[in-house]
Amino acid sequence: MQRKTEKEWLELFERYGAIWRYGGNHTLPHPILASGMHANGYFNSAVLTAHSLLLSELGAGLVEKMYPGGFQPREAFPTVVVGPERGANGLVQAVAQALPYGAKCFTLPKDEATGMFISDRYLSLIGNDDRILVIEDRITSGASAQKVAATFLVRKLHVMPYYCALTKPSGMRSVYERKILALADVDFSVHPSHDCPMCRGGSPALGDVKDNWHLFFD
Ligand SMILES: [Zn+2]
Repeated sequence: MQRKTEKEWLELFERYGAIWRYGGNHTLPHPILASGMHANGYFNSAVLTAHSLLLSELGAGLVEKMYPGGFQPREAFPTVVVGPERGANGLVQAVAQALPYGAKCFTLPKDEATGMFISDRYLSLIGNDDRILVIEDRITSGASAQKVAATFLVRKLHVMPYYCALTKPSGMRSVYERKILALADVDFSVHPSHDCPMCRGGSPALGDVKDNWHLFFD
């Protein structure tokens, strides 16, 4: 497979309609992120991962980011691929399948009451020899990747020293000590609800963006 540059990935995301940008039309809504912040752009991976061949390509692209060439010993590769249920469904399987030795993979549901991710049902599948890779469709603040990692780190399990995502904010290199490896950078700006230029302009703010995706377009 031809290796894609970051620019080519971004062009592909745009071509499939996975990227929404605020175009100044105040009759259309703008998204409220999980953090409560309002954004002038959004990356919706569901538009991409619905295509099986594209999903495989995204998985291979992320593995390529982790190992950009040369021989790697088996011990260099993760043995478990995990991510949040809302953001990594499909993607964990695609990355696991693209790994040369395969991997176990699953997504974790979020406990809405505590905001933490629940890993209990999978813990019997993971041992001290496992190397856990945390992935997400898009990293914005990195909070959910970190919470997914935390559920394993508190149990003294080994989490890989980087997070993988399809997109990350440009300029963001790491979340605490873990690097972010992403296929493309996006440059959306975020605003608190009390100081949001789009709200001020009359555009309604709308949450559950993936479920309401069609409402963001003419
Ligand atoms: Zn707003």
